Amino acid sequence: MLFKDDCRIFAASSRYLDLSARCSRGFLGSVTQLLRGGLRRSDALDNAVFLSKHLEALIIQLITNFVSLFISIKMNIKFCGAAREVTGSCHLLTLDNEKKVLLDCGLYQGNEEYMADFNRTWPHFNPSEIDILIVSHAHIDHVGRVPLLVRDGFKGEIYCTHATRSLANIMLLDSAKIQVQESDEEHPPLYNEHDVYVCMKQFVGLNYGRWQQLCEGLKLQFRDAGHILGSATVTLEITKDNGKIVKLGFTADIGRPDRPILNDPVQMPEVDYLICESTYGNREHEDKAAQLNDLLYAVRETCVLNEGKLLIPAFSLGRTQEIVYMLDQLENEGKLPPVPIYIDSPLAISATEVYRMHPECYDEELFNYMSNDPNPFGFSRLHYIREAGLADSLADSKKPCIIISASGMMTAGRVRRHLFHILRKNQNTVLVVGYATPFTLGGKLRNGAKSVFLFGENVPVHAKVKIMDSFSAHGDKFEMYDFIKNQRNAKKVFLVHGEYDVQVQWRDFLQSYGFQSIEIPDLGNEYEL
Ligand SMILES: [Zn+2]
Repeated sequence: MLFKDDCRIFAASSRYLDLSARCSRGFLGSVTQLLRGGLRRSDALDNAVFLSKHLEALIIQLITNFVSLFISIKMNIKFCGAAREVTGSCHLLTLDNEKKVLLDCGLYQGNEEYMADFNRTWPHFNPSEIDILIVSHAHIDHVGRVPLLVRDGFKGEIYCTHATRSLANIMLLDSAKIQVQESDEEHPPLYNEHDVYVCMKQFVGLNYGRWQQLCEGLKLQFRDAGHILGSATVTLEITKDNGKIVKLGFTADIGRPDRPILNDPVQMPEVDYLICESTYGNREHEDKAAQLNDLLYAVRETCVLNEGKLLIPAFSLGRTQEIVYMLDQLENEGKLPPVPIYIDSPLAISATEVYRMHPECYDEELFNYMSNDPNPFGFSRLHYIREAGLADSLADSKKPCIIISASGMMTAGRVRRHLFHILRKNQNTVLVVGYATPFTLGGKLRNGAKSVFLFGENVPVHAKVKIMDSFSAHGDKFEMYDFIKNQRNAKKVFLVHGEYDVQVQWRDFLQSYGFQSIEIPDLGNEYEL
């Protein structure tokens, strides 16, 4: 709750004094005239009506002013998720007119004990108070709590790009399915498939680059963030009570230039306040040009020289399509060894279908590529597997192959069963192509674990574990800086979506490049804008 500043108290008091004076003058004048006998009865009645109207107005004004003195809201931003964390993106913007706009409503995917209730409860706002939800992209840590938000009372519209709307549908259905499968009496699912069906009716797809009026005094523009299909940065143009226009930008997850499939990130217009991600605020990625060759090298080394299996744990959305497109290119160039390739993830299959449906998000290179190969996500030796059981059926086979399976951090999904078999043999390779937090299975393998616990067994890690971080869909510190360098004059930059020690380094880096006022908000922190 925020109190009015002195000027507004003064203005409200002045209005009250002015109206009081006018009514008092009218009342005293009428009484004086009546006493003098100079006022006719009808005039007195007219005056009484006039006075009662003014008194009513006065009372309403008094009540309004009194209430507003204590509950008046000034525009502010509250950080309700992904604050000193990399998941659970959720920020609440409250406008002067008290409209509440939520930026993202993501699932927390970590294991911190103090966050145990985060996904199930709403300590920072009541869902029924939210007027508008804006979703930056379809990763579950940005969209994953939307069905719950709707079930708990949110009735407004959910704005995102067209591709995000399509992807959110499959991502949320998958999330609901997993939750229902893993639930028991003590741990009920956050939501089920019916909740997803209900919430999808509130989604509104918008194009990139167009300004959309969301309500009085609030306009929105999405620009391509180049992170995953449909990902967007959010620019809001807000007209304040005093008529001043304020711009607020939310980078969400910043992609990288020169990535396959997607357009380069499109810089945001200059804003007054910027909410900026920090995932790789202390990192520099490998050279991007090495990627295709590195992938080919890993395939040849594992499948041809060692006659082993190459397992690529990958996020179903984004990473899998990138790798498939790269394999498609290598195949068309005649470089790929003739081994079978399995995409073992129903979600990845659905996501690839959505990728095919949204060519408006492709970059020019892919457009040109498709004039020779209309299907960049498939060729004869590449098999999409919906049915379960591939890992066990391949376990006894000695034939080399490539397997792409989810999840990327190896915390769930079919990849765990593949790991159960593949890690045991030294001719195999696990190619880690994405970030994994240290406590996850992916994180442990990245950090050189000698054995891991899977399906009730300690599984020795005999397979090679290779890391290719250049696949990242997040810009490194130089790429992120390049993307936001036009925002040096922002009144304030809020760093979100990062581990705290990384955020501190990212802040120092930005300060060394001329950024002035940078905050690293903690969960629940609120700032007046
Ligand atoms: Zn993301």
